[in-house]
Amino acid sequence: MKISSAIFDCSASDLDSCPDESLPEFAFIGRSNVGKSSLLNFLAGKRELARVSRTPGFTKLINFFTINESWRLVDLPGYGFAEVARQDKARFNEAVNEYLMQRPNLHCIFALIDSGLPPQKIDVEFVEWLASNSIPFVLVFTKTDKVGAARVQANIAAFKEHISECCGLPPTILTCSATARLGRGELLAVLKEAVARD
Ligand code: GDP
Repeated sequence: MKISSAIFDCSASDLDSCPDESLPEFAFIGRSNVGKSSLLNFLAGKRELARVSRTPGFTKLINFFTINESWRLVDLPGYGFAEVARQDKARFNEAVNEYLMQRPNLHCIFALIDSGLPPQKIDVEFVEWLASNSIPFVLVFTKTDKVGAARVQANIAAFKEHISECCGLPPTILTCSATARLGRGELLAVLKEAVARD
């Protein structure tokens, strides 16, 4: 897929302020610092795409971008450590929770995970939560340039092992590096197929 236009649509602080449900949505989420802004800019071929999401005041909002006038890329707020320590782990952000659980035109979550780290509890719990709520997701391992290829593969294998019990079929797994400019084609191919499915 070629991204010919990527236009900031709006920001929402709750489900009610999300845009109309006419376009399929594909949402990106991950721990703060996972490389989400870099990946979104790399994906869209626009330096400034995720800038709006990083502007103070916008970081806790759900940011919508219309791509090729046919689907929406949704930038969800990053999850941090403190919030997840709370008792109900899924409630790390009420707006995100509602969006993930109730948005009818949400087609797939792209869950970003740092490939340079062994499985982090917060990421495993989030993916388990997606699976237990039957929310479709793809795992995207970021920053593959940071450690050697063998370490990346070992971290991915360990993550798969951690989630194997909760997920029926093994999920689609993608790898990317915004720094080394790798993985864009594969990610766009998965998006293209998912958009075409609707
Ligand atoms: P966000 O908080 O998830 O939006 O993450 P950012 O895109 O702001 O990136 C967080 C940090 O990781 C920054 O210092 C980036 O330069 C760095 N980073 C992002 N992508 C990559 C990557 O592909 N490789 C490496 N080595 N560093 C990256």
